Amino acid sequence: MRSDEPRRGADHNVMREVNRSLVLALVKEGGPVSRASIARSTTLAKPTVSAIVDELIADGLVREIGPGSTAVSGGRPPILLEFNARSQLVVGVHIGARRTAIAIGDAAGEEIARREFPTPRPGAAPPAGAPPAPADPRAVLRLVATEVRAAIAGAGLPGAKIAAVGAVLPGLTDFHTGVCLLAPNLGWRDVPVRDILAAELGAPVYVHNAGQAAAVAENLEGAGERVGDLALLYAGTGLSAGILSDGRVFHGVGGTAGEIGHNAVPGIDEPCNCGNIGCLETVASGPAIVRAARRALAAGEASALAEVDEFDARDVAAAAQAGDDVAGRVIAGVGEHLGLAASWLINAYNPALVVVGGGLAAIGDLLLDPLRAAAARHALSPALRGVEIRASVLGPDAEVRGAVLLALQHSETYYRVVFRA
Ligand SMILES: [Zn+2]
Repeated sequence: MRSDEPRRGADHNVMREVNRSLVLALVKEGGPVSRASIARSTTLAKPTVSAIVDELIADGLVREIGPGSTAVSGGRPPILLEFNARSQLVVGVHIGARRTAIAIGDAAGEEIARREFPTPRPGAAPPAGAPPAPADPRAVLRLVATEVRAAIAGAGLPGAKIAAVGAVLPGLTDFHTGVCLLAPNLGWRDVPVRDILAAELGAPVYVHNAGQAAAVAENLEGAGERVGDLALLYAGTGLSAGILSDGRVFHGVGGTAGEIGHNAVPGIDEPCNCGNIGCLETVASGPAIVRAARRALAAGEASALAEVDEFDARDVAAAAQAGDDVAGRVIAGVGEHLGLAASWLINAYNPALVVVGGGLAAIGDLLLDPLRAAAARHALSPALRGVEIRASVLGPDAEVRGAVLLALQHSETYYRVVFRA
């Protein structure tokens, strides 16, 4: 737009976009519908509706499905329109520390193809305790793009247009620049994920972290039941939070909003992955469970865990389920620290619901009961009233479903139309 173009031009474009969003949303949510009934519902002029519908048909988003049964006026039955969900695809990619999942969705978000494979990690196995050998991020992202293309071809939709890609990573991401800032489990730092994948796939790419993706998925399809104002505590190898305000991810200016795992907790002196000391994540995560159990064994406490050489957080949880006192206390301790994190989220964001997601959510009540009790102890009572703390419903599917749903959110026209009953 030229700088001397009148302001009116800009307003006109905004109105066009709003009207287009309105018509598309009506066809999507209320279809099949006729042009006349769209005009009635929107109070737009019939020629305006017709022009927008022609444009949507040309773009493949809407199609005519023939005449309806009767006309209100008693004249010729009107041609009905419906949303064409296969007109475009959305792609969700979750690059996990161990596994990568790709899901292809249609324009309504329904999954039509999925592929999963181990996240590449070339090189010899590192010595115990050392960080994993980093795979070349560019090679990993090129492999992801190849698998995306293969999944689309395998679904019988070669050449279908990708409207948007949601890329989800286990670490710190900057949504605004599309950079993975730090993913210790992948050995990635400052990787321009958005630019690499966009060049490979020829589609816009939106980068989020796993907690944000899980929050969106749980809100729309899981424990959230579309509450909109939801905070998801993502507890696994690390600890972060996905914050939703009216269903949208709250990113912050640098994209790192919700990284509460790196808030310092007084009295804790464990070094953290991020370089600081005493971060909450060092006492409220999977590795924290293992460290606490090892410390208890080293102090000579009697536990079934002493019988095994190597154990992980899952083994400790299993021992706790089987009634092992030491394991039970370790899980409860981590639950209490997670409850502290939940109280921060409740006080800071006043959500309707806190969902506990990530790998640790599978531990269940042994973790959740002390978590709820600690949250109730620490949170402000007005913020605590009405808030519920629930475990994830989607489990390990949350991240890749979130990637698809985020791609869908971003692919929709800028003006989102919300119908309220
Ligand atoms: Zn930290």
